[in-house]
Amino acid sequence: MVDLTNCPWGGLEPAKLWFCEAPLCSIVHRPSETYSSFAFVIAGLYIYRKADKSKNIHYLIFTIMAIFIGLTSAAMHATSSRIGEIMDVSSMFGIVNFCIVIGLKRKYPSLSGLSQLGLFILFTIISSISLTINNEAAGSAMFGSLILIGVITEYLMFKKAKVKPNYWLLVKSIGLVVIGWGIWWLDILKIVCNPNNHIITGHAIWHAFCAVGIVYLWRFFDQFEYAPSPFIGKLNCKNCVH
Ligand SMILES: [Zn+2]
Repeated sequence: MVDLTNCPWGGLEPAKLWFCEAPLCSIVHRPSETYSSFAFVIAGLYIYRKADKSKNIHYLIFTIMAIFIGLTSAAMHATSSRIGEIMDVSSMFGIVNFCIVIGLKRKYPSLSGLSQLGLFILFTIISSISLTINNEAAGSAMFGSLILIGVITEYLMFKKAKVKPNYWLLVKSIGLVVIGWGIWWLDILKIVCNPNNHIITGHAIWHAFCAVGIVYLWRFFDQFEYAPSPFIGKLNCKNCVH
């Protein structure tokens, strides 16, 4: 491992995860991993631009979450710090947990706003526990488990739904994340890896795939009629499962 103690951000506790790209002793330790993080910011701005703002505020939550993932990811890869890593992974857990909770609201329309908020906080706390385990696979396994919970919830609703929404949007979103995840592993295990390439890395491709995946994820959830605001108000759901 390269000693970054005397470099910018050297005073911060180092991150647990070290991907393929070798760090530089500069303000941006890993340029490819850092700059590709802005794909999430672009995805967030795209959602904001395309959203029907009169519908509900889910578009705003997706926008904020996508931008937040981009900024925390850039902070992590630029500084190689543990604090950046915790913020980055927590923000990814946050968006998946949000999708699970609004999915549950479609399955159980009587779920109160407070229960939704409680579940969101509970899921995020539980998933963040994986970050305290000193094992690079733990966070990745937790991320996969959360996606699986979301997929199972959606599949149960798909089977029951009288009016079938466009599930291809969800399939595309998860497909992109799964392919990107394979590349994530090839990169971190140094199977496909050139540490001195600071322009395009496997981890940068993972960022790009996930960013596009978030756009499809938003488009999937945007098909449904929700209450004007999540967590509060009654559900006005035309195509929920009853
Ligand atoms: Zn990353």
